[in-house]
Amino acid sequence: MKTERVETDVLCIGGGIAGLMAAIRARELGAKVVVAEKGATRYSGAGRIGNDHFWCYIPEYHGPDLDAFIKECMLTQLGNMTSNLGPRVVRTWLENSYDMVKLWDSWGIQMKHDGEWHFSGHSFPDRVMTHLKYKGANQKPVLTDQALKSGATIMDRVMIFELLGGPEGCTGAIGIDTRQDRLIEFRAKSVVVGTGAVVRLYPGVTPAVMGNNQRQFSSTGDGRAMAYRVGAELVNVELFTRHAGVKNFCRAGQATWAGVCRDPEGRPIGKYIEEPDIRFGDMIIEVDKQIFERYRQTGRGPVYMDCRGLTDAGHAYLMEGLRNEGNIGLLEHLKEEGVDLKKNALEFSTYELRYLGRLQTNEKTETGVPGLFTAGDESTFSISGAAVFGWIGGEQAAQYARQAAPASGEGKSAKMEETKHLIDALQSRKNGHDWRDANFALQHTLTDYAGSIKSEATLTAGLAHLRRLRQKVDTTLRATNRWELARCLEVRNLYDLGELVFAAASERKESRGMFQRSDYPYTDPLLGGKLLTVKQVDGKPYLEWKDVPR
Ligand SMILES: Cc1cc2nc3c(=O)[nH]c(=O)nc-3n(C[C@H](O)[C@H](O)[C@H](O)COP(=O)(O)OP(=O)(O)OC[C@H]3O[C@@H](n4cnc5c(N)ncnc54)[C@H](O)[C@@H]3O)c2cc1C
Repeated sequence: MKTERVETDVLCIGGGIAGLMAAIRARELGAKVVVAEKGATRYSGAGRIGNDHFWCYIPEYHGPDLDAFIKECMLTQLGNMTSNLGPRVVRTWLENSYDMVKLWDSWGIQMKHDGEWHFSGHSFPDRVMTHLKYKGANQKPVLTDQALKSGATIMDRVMIFELLGGPEGCTGAIGIDTRQDRLIEFRAKSVVVGTGAVVRLYPGVTPAVMGNNQRQFSSTGDGRAMAYRVGAELVNVELFTRHAGVKNFCRAGQATWAGVCRDPEGRPIGKYIEEPDIRFGDMIIEVDKQIFERYRQTGRGPVYMDCRGLTDAGHAYLMEGLRNEGNIGLLEHLKEEGVDLKKNALEFSTYELRYLGRLQTNEKTETGVPGLFTAGDESTFSISGAAVFGWIGGEQAAQYARQAAPASGEGKSAKMEETKHLIDALQSRKNGHDWRDANFALQHTLTDYAGSIKSEATLTAGLAHLRRLRQKVDTTLRATNRWELARCLEVRNLYDLGELVFAAASERKESRGMFQRSDYPYTDPLLGGKLLTVKQVDGKPYLEWKDVPR
């Protein structure tokens, strides 16, 4: 196997929105920057073919009172989504959001509508509008060009598999070329992890098609797993949520749908709107994510998204939003099937369990491991989270790199040898298990023992199964080509995360939201405002309850 060494000041892992923003900012501050991206930055990640809503506070639009704006946002799903980040992170986010909007606009991502800041979606009628409607279809090529223009080096088709950690903190990483026989050691003074969200831990709604997920197929929590292995703290790994949208077409981006959710008799299932309205959409989807599932389970469903009745201009606005949101495949399918949103309502449903655990961080994007920063879906959520904290992460990493000593080689050759040995084993086995088998077994185990229904008994039994499966994964997993090699490494990361789900679910002795334990069916008020954290100590998960940072 060929090996290679790359030296840099700042290594950005993941060339999604967060990683590219970090790279641009770190370069602006004079750092030497390398972006290592598993796919290709022009087309990769959750923002790959576009998004259309950007959470932001624009004083000239919202007025001068940021606190009042934050209070209003907390009435929407943002309240739940930000509750474990703490007020300092939320404030920093919003204080910087307008600057990001202006930057993107100046780079050629269309942030205005007819020359104006225009807000729609994710908001209740007659309340403050929280999300800027923008045209994000070109955001990845624009950010890629901007990163290249700034002088960052982008290495596409490189999957980072291990961080290099030690007493001096995080000093680099090890990656594989996903196309060629090449192992790369990155030596860096600081590292920004921006590898996105986690899919493939729980089964999708169409289990025969593993790629039908709300995020891209290869977003497998690599960053969280690697960071955990070098001592970073994760939070709330046992929690999950569910999203809703067009049945069988798992796509995030519910707010683009400007119709009314109706039962089969045409009655609205929520109380917020009765006729489609491009300004708000139907907020029942945000208020109650499980409503579609309940309608189905109680025989009242299916539920339909009904956009009929929009004006021609409203319909054009909807279609443009869907295109910018990256719903090209769905739109093609509707065309092929002769479905016209002016005439037909579309069936909606609840999607798969979505993992909510994340890397613990603060308003400076620090992880607690010196030299290791994180941004985007690894630690917050959404496009604006990725943009703002990517930018701040790049800034912090560049400043850290300025005072850090050049990374020493200590312990690195041993880690490289270990990784080489692992990859050789995966590639040389003549018989063994395919990554799909291992992934499906993991999904079944999580669903059956740590999914919607669980108790100490199921968690104990499930963890025993998982450990047995893990041993098989370690000794029999087999890759017959480079593509499968990347999948095998992803599956190993998913197993690490799966084991943490069991440990944390066992520690959370209560029920809260979608986290339900049959042996503790009540919500423990003493755990309100607390985070369940986990980090690796002496090779084992160490769990601790902590207050949400103030
Ligand atoms: C259909 C859809 C619509 C959405 N609409 C909106 C919206 O309108 N508004 C909004 O705010 N949010 C929206 N989101 C969410 C938003 O896209 C994400 O929150 C955002 O893109 C996260 O950015 P990120 O940089 O953290 O992750 P990503 O953009 O997912 O980037 C992560 C990158 O890391 C790479 N990577 C992963 N693992 C490795 C590894 N081991 N080594 C190297 N590289 C790796 C990936 O290939 C990827 O390029 C939507 C998401 C989807 C899927």
